[in-house]
Amino acid sequence: MAAEADVDDRRDGAGPFHAPGGGPARGRCRAHRPGHHPRAGAVGGGQGVPARRPARPGRDPRGDPCRRLSAGREGRAARVAELRTDPLTGLTVAVDGRRQARPRARSADCPFCPGGLEAPEEYRVRRFPNRWPALDGGRCEVLLYAPEHGASWATMGLQQAEHAVELWSECTEELGARPDVGYVLLFENRGADAGATVDHPHGQAFGLPGVPPAPATQLERSRALGRCALCEGPAKELVVAEEGGWRAWVPEAPLFPYALRLAPRVHLPDLPGAGAAGRRELAALLTRVLGGVDALFGRPAPYLLWVHQRPADGGEWPWAHLYLEINVVWRAPGTPRYIAAGELGSGMYFTPLEPERAAETLRGV
Ligand SMILES: [Zn+2]
Ligand SMILES: [Zn+2]
Repeated sequence: MAAEADVDDRRDGAGPFHAPGGGPARGRCRAHRPGHHPRAGAVGGGQGVPARRPARPGRDPRGDPCRRLSAGREGRAARVAELRTDPLTGLTVAVDGRRQARPRARSADCPFCPGGLEAPEEYRVRRFPNRWPALDGGRCEVLLYAPEHGASWATMGLQQAEHAVELWSECTEELGARPDVGYVLLFENRGADAGATVDHPHGQAFGLPGVPPAPATQLERSRALGRCALCEGPAKELVVAEEGGWRAWVPEAPLFPYALRLAPRVHLPDLPGAGAAGRRELAALLTRVLGGVDALFGRPAPYLLWVHQRPADGGEWPWAHLYLEINVVWRAPGTPRYIAAGELGSGMYFTPLEPERAAETLRGV
């Protein structure tokens, strides 16, 4: 282990993040110099996106995503995760050896139930810093959707779902206001097959130092094409459900057989910008489509959910269009859909179910 080596010297150190405001990278990271990291340069550099608010003078250079995800006051001893870039593929991975030890809770001693370790008092919804963070400084949060251990989006009821969506929005605003956060990623792993270590209904938030590759690539694609795919909307055969100004559909080219994308029809940047009425409609749509997914599989189906929103780095990001993506990791009840060697090896993905047929099935449940 190269614990004593300078990260910049030993590794590419590029980091997957884009510079604040969508403009050129800050600092002295050699990996972001033009020509050294063509992908980052092509995507993040020279977009000329006007700043929504002035650059934050208080930004701590130790939070420079080019160097590492974390560099605590105590230096390396306090580091939580380290970015390493594969010299062959250019793929950047956050390495954190400590997280391997995190426990898997049983329902009998659930830390998220009222009275449990992480929720000593009664609550309606609750946010708190993750005890097993992937980033330092309280930038990883756990969001409890409901006090009932067995609740889910499908069963918690519309009012509780509204509270949970409001919690997402509040977290987006508060975490995004931090000077060391440039992007708030909300996500949820539901079920053991999706990697959840606690069954209690909850999501998580990462306050990332910059815009990570997945949303950055999408934002750049919209900018380059000059059109917003989410505003254009899906083919009608792919639509699963609508609630007010929101629509849910199966993506044209999904990675998992049962995948859903949820977005407002109009170009809204983020959950705070959706307003209380818009968030209520999202809550209604979520309970409806995830109820359909659970009904289809005949039991709570494991899924991966994330929310993409406008970066929180002060940039204007005019192409950012709020949406959620849900991927059910089963292809049949109890049968996982594995990402196979031929897919990872080729970078091409295969799905055994026509998206139109998946949409028709999900419309019917
Ligand atoms: Zn619980
Ligand atoms: Zn749009």
